[in-house]
Amino acid sequence: MHDPHDPIKPGSVIGIIGGGQLGRMTAVAAAELGYRVHIFTPEDNSPASHVSEHTTVAAYDDQDAIEAFGQNVDVVTFEFENVPAETVRHLTNLAPVRPSWECLAICQDRVREKTFCNELGIETAPWKSVTTPEELSAAIIEIGTPSILKTTRLGYDGKGQVRIGPNTDPAQAWKELGGRAAILEGFVDFDVEVSVITARRPDGVMASFDVVENRHKDGILDITIAPANISDDVTQKARAVGQKLADAMDLVGLLAVELFITKNNHVLVNEMAPRPHNSGHWTQDGCITSQFEQFVRAVANLPLGTSQRHSDTVMHNLLGEDANLWEQQLSDPNNKLHLYGKAQPRTGRKMGHINRLYAKGSQPKG
Ligand code: AMP
Repeated sequence: MHDPHDPIKPGSVIGIIGGGQLGRMTAVAAAELGYRVHIFTPEDNSPASHVSEHTTVAAYDDQDAIEAFGQNVDVVTFEFENVPAETVRHLTNLAPVRPSWECLAICQDRVREKTFCNELGIETAPWKSVTTPEELSAAIIEIGTPSILKTTRLGYDGKGQVRIGPNTDPAQAWKELGGRAAILEGFVDFDVEVSVITARRPDGVMASFDVVENRHKDGILDITIAPANISDDVTQKARAVGQKLADAMDLVGLLAVELFITKNNHVLVNEMAPRPHNSGHWTQDGCITSQFEQFVRAVANLPLGTSQRHSDTVMHNLLGEDANLWEQQLSDPNNKLHLYGKAQPRTGRKMGHINRLYAKGSQPKG
């Protein structure tokens, strides 16, 4: 088995669990560094498979397929965190798994995630775990309204959430969420939403990208503005939170942390993802090293590149039919267009993004 102190040399095979756009852009960055990529995904014709040498199409709990995958790759990572942690744990006998299944297990469960933050003294919104309608009624009294009921697992892009107001019937809200284990979270009257992405190598060396502002529409990321227009003090706090969490998890790879900044400059963790993140797509064109290249470097135990920003950047997500406007987008020479090769432009589906570049320090407004 591979000595964890050695680099995974260019020419080796990087195994990526998940076949979406994050896997696709990671595979392209890996190819640029001379690696070959093997994707494991349940989806036929996935965006990552279009640009990778091998793809295994099988269910995440297909142990035989997982075993064969693990035997054919030199390192395993993932581009999406809702993979059963058991699947990932099984792979640790076959190849280095970076980040570890323990990191995955923390980030895929809101109770574990928030407990992990709070135990490190890192603030979150006030929250309570709820597993029955009775517990929900008690939690509403304790946390108050407005608040948000979120499924503990498998929520993304605002899915699996119900807003709770003063007149909400707890039994109805519980039913609406599908009666699944959840947390009730106090509503944060934030000034701005930001995120920070930290890369960390196996020896603990870290590099953070600039803190960026994220604006959402209908619970889905709409635009990212790099850098965020926040004070140096808040920037330092946000970076410190990202690095503290990555270190405490002994994470190898990337950790994306979404944060709420309150009007009195408190920095609260909303959620984290142990992988490249939509709010880091701007780095493809605005930084010397993109999040995808940095991810590959960290996972392969190579030296990290500089995360320095050379241009201010605004990233716009292209959802559903927006992607059909590619010709119009390309007619502006300052737009950098990235499309994911998805055939069906369903409403709300992430089809691509545009990075628009500005002079460094010009503070674009989005
Ligand atoms: P999430 O899937 O938890 O990231 O939530 C999606 C979006 O809903 C966030 O980016 C926020 O804009 C909003 N949101 C989630 N939780 C809260 C909260 N506790 N207070 C205020 N807004 C929230």
